[in-house]
Amino acid sequence: MKKGKKLYEGKAKIIYATSDKDLVIQYFKDDATAFNNQKKSTIEGKGVLNNRISEHILSSLSQIGIKNHLVKRLNMREQVVKLVEIIPIEFIVRNVATGSLTKRLGIEDGTVLKEPLIEYCLKDDKLGDPLIAEEHILAFDWASKKEIEKVKKMILRINDFMIGMFRGVGIKLIDFKLEFGRLNANGKKDVILADEISPDTCRLWDSLTDKKLDKDRFRKDLGDLIPAYTEVAKRLGILHEQSNLSAVNVTKLSSVKRKRK
Ligand code: 5GP
Repeated sequence: MKKGKKLYEGKAKIIYATSDKDLVIQYFKDDATAFNNQKKSTIEGKGVLNNRISEHILSSLSQIGIKNHLVKRLNMREQVVKLVEIIPIEFIVRNVATGSLTKRLGIEDGTVLKEPLIEYCLKDDKLGDPLIAEEHILAFDWASKKEIEKVKKMILRINDFMIGMFRGVGIKLIDFKLEFGRLNANGKKDVILADEISPDTCRLWDSLTDKKLDKDRFRKDLGDLIPAYTEVAKRLGILHEQSNLSAVNVTKLSSVKRKRK
């Protein structure tokens, strides 16, 4: 597949055109940002790990019937995905209260929620991705009622599946962010899961120790991120002998580079 021109560059990924108008290449960068771009860094190897972890989760979700944009992983950093029109909403799913929820409402950190809580944020960096209500989505036509109902059903199924998948490897799925896109299929628009699911977009805590195995390591300066992401990949059984070695090399490489700075 031929990689064409750059169509879009986000904080963690780049999208390239391909020779097929319906498919694009999603490239995972090593850049890490937090607090609406105020904190920035490059963490060597992050893109490689997120590519692998996201591929694993999205292909597992495909197997249980959750339609998503992943076609196939191309190499260490790239995937071929279906071109979709992204719905401009970040769908946040919470099982345990932490992060912005605790700050906003004064809820005690770590409170287990009775039911999964779905929140909506407008995807707008300039506004800081503000929290919105379902009524805002309908009032401003960001998505239709039918789309929202479909997305909510998918979200609960994705959450159930992912809670089980992570529980099986000793990890608590605290919360995560999902994005969905519209796909033109046979003249009809379908809504499918898009973007990535990785430790960049989820909060993952070790079941026994509550050690943070996600991007909060970067956000809150909790220590190296690569060993934590590698741990997630290993527990999910993604890293085989060879790629295991490459992940270790990536870690070594990044620490060598840091020392040189
Ligand atoms: P919070 O609202 O507590 O900051 O985040 C809730 C969950 O959504 C966390 O798992 C967090 O990683 C994810 N999340 C929310 N907004 C973003 C975002 O803009 N980028 C990424 N990568 N994750 C986000």
